[in-house]
Amino acid sequence: MQLDVDDIDQAVTTGAVPGAQHIDEILDAAYEHTSKHHGGEVADYIPALADADPDAFGLCVVDVEGGLHEVGDTRVLFSIQSISKAFVYALVSERVGHEKVLDVIGVNSTGLAFDSVVAIELNDGHPMNPMVNAGALATTALMPGNTADDQWEAIHSGLSRFAGRHLDIDDEVLASEVKSNSRNSAIAQLLHSYGRIEHDPLEVVDIYTRQCALAIDARDLAVMAATLANGGVNPVTGVEVVSAAVCRDTLAVLAASGLYEATGEWLFEIGLPGKSGVSGGIVTVAPGKVGIGSLSPRLDSTGNSVRGQIATAYLSRALGLNIFASESHFRSKVAGIGEDQAG
Ligand code: GLU
Repeated sequence: MQLDVDDIDQAVTTGAVPGAQHIDEILDAAYEHTSKHHGGEVADYIPALADADPDAFGLCVVDVEGGLHEVGDTRVLFSIQSISKAFVYALVSERVGHEKVLDVIGVNSTGLAFDSVVAIELNDGHPMNPMVNAGALATTALMPGNTADDQWEAIHSGLSRFAGRHLDIDDEVLASEVKSNSRNSAIAQLLHSYGRIEHDPLEVVDIYTRQCALAIDARDLAVMAATLANGGVNPVTGVEVVSAAVCRDTLAVLAASGLYEATGEWLFEIGLPGKSGVSGGIVTVAPGKVGIGSLSPRLDSTGNSVRGQIATAYLSRALGLNIFASESHFRSKVAGIGEDQAG
């Protein structure tokens, strides 16, 4: 549907987060509160992921001025996996534009598992959702470049700019995923048969698998999230990675489907766009305020980190980040008058 709003200037509202010391205190409290939870299982469908320390737990907040707040195992490296989908989507949107990604990929949930083949067939070959494997493979394929190496270079350098440092591949995870990648190869071939992937589909799988195997830590995730919270400018390096419009579009996609099939519950409880991955990371973005990165490899049955969800819910409440929350202007005015009279 055409909404006829292209000529309307977009206003942006932002609010303040508590001061640095207060964030540190809340972060410590969130960590302590969450550490007593030991539920969930480490993913093992990619064999190398099963080697992760199930008790590793890192939590990091980066504000839009680049202030870093961290607690726990924030320097433990793990593979970025599905979280790369969010940032590659932003990089590709920047290069090919709003209309093209909307047309070729789509922005709705499929309502089916992240590695579903049926979802492609049910939608006549349209990938629908850039945060599941079919949509992510089609997104990776859209990255401009004369060769697969050029495309990989654009993705690798772009993800590194989001993190503010050069990211390396975890070779062990890459080798393990390459060996167990038949499903993604099948998805890419099917998309190719529908004309949704124009390049050699197996080359696309190769690039996608490499992007998923990049090693990052919870601090990197928070910096990457803070870049999306800060209109596309990395608040630590000052480098503009993508435009503010691309950030806005990417966050809408994350809000719709960033937490697999539990996205509705996540939004209901936490009220922020986020993206999780099977290695136990979650990035969460509070636009204009902060980015949050968490790592804890134990996953619930929806594939989302148990501790990551609890800790982020704690932070959303305690830092006042839920984008759906508001307070009545009238009520606060009345309270203000009451205070004046009491004083
Ligand atoms: N590389 C993984 C896959 O394609 C990513 C899955 C995920 O984190 O959701 O199966």
